[in-house]
Amino acid sequence: METETLPLTPPDQVLSTLNPDGTRRWLAPRLSKGRFWRRRRVLGYFLMVLFNVLPWIQIGGKPAMRLDVLQREFTFFGVAFQPTETVLVVALFLTAFLGIFLLTALFGRVWCGWACPQTVYLEFLYRPLERLIEGKAYSKGPDAVSKGRKLLKLLVFFLVSLHLSHTFLAYFVGPHTVLEWSLGSPTEHPGGFAMVWFVTLLMLIDFASFREQMCTLACPYGRLQSALVDPNSIVIGYDTTRGEPRGKGKRGTEKTAALGDCIDCKLCVAVCPTGIDIRDGLQMECVNCAECIDACDSVMDRIGLDRGLVRYASENELAGGERKVVRVRTVLYSVGLVVAFVTLLFFLGSRKDTLVSVLRIRNVPFMTLADGRISNPVKLRIENRAPEARTYSVTPTQAGYLTMPESLSIEVGPGGTEELIFNVLVDASVFVGGQAPLELVVGDGAGFQTSLERTLLGPR
Ligand code: SF4
Ligand code: SF4
Repeated sequence: METETLPLTPPDQVLSTLNPDGTRRWLAPRLSKGRFWRRRRVLGYFLMVLFNVLPWIQIGGKPAMRLDVLQREFTFFGVAFQPTETVLVVALFLTAFLGIFLLTALFGRVWCGWACPQTVYLEFLYRPLERLIEGKAYSKGPDAVSKGRKLLKLLVFFLVSLHLSHTFLAYFVGPHTVLEWSLGSPTEHPGGFAMVWFVTLLMLIDFASFREQMCTLACPYGRLQSALVDPNSIVIGYDTTRGEPRGKGKRGTEKTAALGDCIDCKLCVAVCPTGIDIRDGLQMECVNCAECIDACDSVMDRIGLDRGLVRYASENELAGGERKVVRVRTVLYSVGLVVAFVTLLFFLGSRKDTLVSVLRIRNVPFMTLADGRISNPVKLRIENRAPEARTYSVTPTQAGYLTMPESLSIEVGPGGTEELIFNVLVDASVFVGGQAPLELVVGDGAGFQTSLERTLLGPR
């Protein structure tokens, strides 16, 4: 559709990924193998290997990284966090968020360009595979690619996504469980099976089609940029003073004497994975990948001018001023980060050897027994962080409260976690408004003892 025939003509390009008629502008960025690309590639390969091996690594008998939703436990570098450890979990997340805020205030969107899985996998796995499979047709757009190559690309992308989705799932249920599920029948693990296919499909859509729109439209971190970055943050920018007025032509001649250093070759635009022109100034679509620096440096080398027309610099520096590192936001983020990190270390250091939590058993609130007593199911999760096995006993403290089975004890191996499920029996007269208090004492007979409170449910 021609722009002139549109009922509403956009005054300018609205999005780098949209044509004026609203259709998708497919990007096929060229590759510029400069110094930053080489460094990013080394880091990218390292991160890809790390992503794949991390679920298998154990530290002190615990996974290096696991977000066990079913068991409600988050393990980070061998340290297990449970939702009941509110202060620890809050301190951990605050440390992570403030660290990212500080990094962004200092170095802009460096995470996006160098370490985000979206960029790493797209630029160093999916796109290289695409270039390899499509060959010369890659730069001419999808219409120029033969059906056979398109199918082959889809198949390869699918296999890569399938592998990645299995690895991704391993962060939630563990690699051995994923392996067991993969080798078993799908009917035995329909939930896991569905999850793998769902994640595979999402990855395939993302890396085969959605691509840079994840960074420019969907990612919340990208949207936060305007709040986190200021004119003193290091971004990737174009030196307008040096580059303008731009214009083609050999430099150093009378004809080009009035021109700046930018020869308007548009190589910086051709390599940009989000399709923007860095010469238009700082834009939210820029993911700080440094491809345009490498591209422009190669042009400057070729025409004999100094590198750095496009470079890492703050907006103030690009405008001829200086960059201030110490500013209100960097001070606040740093102080917050130190407080959160010290809190995290303090609470980690003062943790007990044993962690006991009461878990909810869904769908079975209580039962009325034949003798009129009320039975409530209770699930305890006991984590033994000590280097030796321990046996824990559980006893209700209130008179008239019994458990079934009567004697409750469980052995938990070193660094292990076990669950104990039992019923608490109590007379119906104890319940007021359908609720009764329960206090349990858990001890290992060797110095550890803790009490837990819970509300039992019963007839109103
Ligand atoms: S403008 Fe440069 S740094 Fe930003 S996304 Fe494009 S190529 Fe990467
Ligand atoms: S690559 Fe450099 S010289 Fe070429 S258009 Fe971009 S800024 Fe100008």
